[in-house]
Amino acid sequence: MTVTPAELIRPEILALQAYPVADAQGLIKLDAMENPYSWPDELVTEWLATLRDTPLNRYPDSQARALVQQMRASLELPAEVELLLGNGSDELIQLLALTLAGAQGERRVVLAPEPSFVMYRMVATFTGLDYVGVPLRPDFSLDTAAMLHAIRTHRPALVFIAYPNNPTGNLFDTGALREIIAATPGLVVVDEAYGAFAEASFINALAEDDNLLLMRTLSKSGLAGLRLGYVLGAAHWLREIDKLRLPYNINVLTQRSVEFVLRHRAVLDMQAGWIRQARTELQAGLTQLPGIVTYPSQANFILFRVPEGQAGAVFNGLKYQGVLIKNLHPVGGLLHDCLRVTVGTSAENRRFLDALGGLL
Ligand SMILES: *Cc1c(COP(=O)(O)O)cnc(C)c1O
Repeated sequence: MTVTPAELIRPEILALQAYPVADAQGLIKLDAMENPYSWPDELVTEWLATLRDTPLNRYPDSQARALVQQMRASLELPAEVELLLGNGSDELIQLLALTLAGAQGERRVVLAPEPSFVMYRMVATFTGLDYVGVPLRPDFSLDTAAMLHAIRTHRPALVFIAYPNNPTGNLFDTGALREIIAATPGLVVVDEAYGAFAEASFINALAEDDNLLLMRTLSKSGLAGLRLGYVLGAAHWLREIDKLRLPYNINVLTQRSVEFVLRHRAVLDMQAGWIRQARTELQAGLTQLPGIVTYPSQANFILFRVPEGQAGAVFNGLKYQGVLIKNLHPVGGLLHDCLRVTVGTSAENRRFLDALGGLL
């Protein structure tokens, strides 16, 4: 038999593009919200020593009990808040969608403001849910009335709110978010991927709203290579989601390494402080450049707008000078002429600002 992909695979999947990751070889990498700092040598040595005795021939603990216990203590979680680990929060977004997907032919909706994190739409599409994006206002604040109207119209099973938002960097209004949580007939996932760099969190709202889940990741705080995200929420929700998790999703090196890092949390906290400081400097540097409009950020990146029609040239010019950032102009909509730069070290940020200044 010969059979083509087009005959066998759903049109929505044929139409998808695999998640694009730029080749950053040899470039200053300011495109993916990574923490630019490594660890002091003594810490690396100590970490390697803990890995020495890790058995690679055995499956990892499928419940990651030691790690979960340590995370609970570290986050000071109250007993009624449950914690579920994912292979990055990307995996958790997928698990949430799979858990809430409708039966054959039943329409289920995932709703999120736009622009926001692209995985919400991608995952909804390939897990067979309908995706509804509700445009933010031109200043990237939530259009509360439009959100509430869309929620009443589409009755979403799942709402994703990135807080701070990616790629815009801002926190949404707390009151607006509370209204959205109250109005949503499904689950609302507040995605705090950038919580380490922000001044606010919805963690205290977990006790009050049964349909609220909080999602976080260690990726942006300095452990992107380990892939560990988590969801916090009521046990009766997380128990159901856990049934769809593949049994050994958190590998043993990640479990042991994160346990180690949690014993040395001060290092990551200190680095987050450096990044927040560097963000202020980067923001100030960008503001001084002619023709640049910047947007306030509570995350470890800054969104900025260049004069009309120049985003592609600016992106390529920076890359030619060895600096990789993210061009968001091709996304269209509110992101026309916008680019996003991750906060790097002071030296990297200066290289970026010098290169950008030369291009304008
Ligand atoms: C980066 C990011 C994630 C994904 O994080 P991983 O844990 O690395 O999969 C989730 N949500 C938002 C808003 C992000 O920007």
